[in-house]
Amino acid sequence: MRWGEVVKLSKSDVVAAFKSSPELSEHTAIRQRTLKTAIGCTGIGLHSGAKVTMVLHPAEADTGIRFKRTDIAGRGAIVPALWSNVGDTRMNTCLVNEAGVQVGTVEHLMSALAGSGIDNCLIEINGPEVPVMDGSAAPFLFLIECAGTVEQVLPRRAIRVLKRVTVTDGEKMASLSPASAFSLRFEIDFASQAISRQEFAVTLTRGAFKSEISRARTFGFEQEVAMLRAHGLARGGSLDNAVVIDSTGTKVLNDDGLRYGDEFVRHKILDAVGDLSLAGAPILGAFHGVRSGHALNNQLLRALFADQTAWTYTTVAPGSAAANGFAALPAPEPMVVNG
Ligand SMILES: [Zn+2]
Repeated sequence: MRWGEVVKLSKSDVVAAFKSSPELSEHTAIRQRTLKTAIGCTGIGLHSGAKVTMVLHPAEADTGIRFKRTDIAGRGAIVPALWSNVGDTRMNTCLVNEAGVQVGTVEHLMSALAGSGIDNCLIEINGPEVPVMDGSAAPFLFLIECAGTVEQVLPRRAIRVLKRVTVTDGEKMASLSPASAFSLRFEIDFASQAISRQEFAVTLTRGAFKSEISRARTFGFEQEVAMLRAHGLARGGSLDNAVVIDSTGTKVLNDDGLRYGDEFVRHKILDAVGDLSLAGAPILGAFHGVRSGHALNNQLLRALFADQTAWTYTTVAPGSAAANGFAALPAPEPMVVNG
């Protein structure tokens, strides 16, 4: 199997997967999920400043999360949301396919999809960057809640971490360790007094993503804005879609202040949920990040997949810690089965 491809499971693969999980039957494993209906939004790109329209569509089982650039003709328009397609990681996570077609700033949308337990979704977008909305995952979570989700026929496949994998870059560190559910711990330490040292840990059991993480906004420093704009970045950035800290490093410039006292470290966890969802399946493991960012989060996935003994695919039993992870949304009514 070549990494970076969307894997289509045949019936015999599914049977083999169940044989390797003897406690589960085809009727008891947690199944894949997609949207109940299509739903869209319009906004501006944080870095491009361009207005974009995006529509999230239901998608077939085992197709994963894929972007489709509606302003690009032909097969090159499809950009699978996978770690192997991550290109630029300056200030955001940008996907690029083999044809060189890009979709930028995917991490907050990816975080919302992962936090909602969506396995399959086709995202049509008419430009090169996902709209920033308010700088958090909450508007995307709201869209997904409005559309609703449905269970599909095939079982959800998760990635179980079997041994600790660590990547470092100077003082930055990111690791994944074996655990029964997806949990994240993050530490940041900024010279700015408005942020300084913050640490937060969360296990993404039912509702935790929505209440603890989803509303945390991206952040930046007043003096960075001019530099970023000189590099063609942050053109759409404003106090409407980011927390901005003043040039003295002591004060938040947004009139309404912060949404959480430690909003900064919570946003770093929000980013990590999105970046790690590019594994292509939910991760059963414990993430630990110290000053990590998009680049190191992606290197962590590359290191995980480079070691075949560090992980395995698994199905998930209902009621288990793993099953409760990612259940950000209320369970839909039973018996709704699609595709
Ligand atoms: Zn972010």
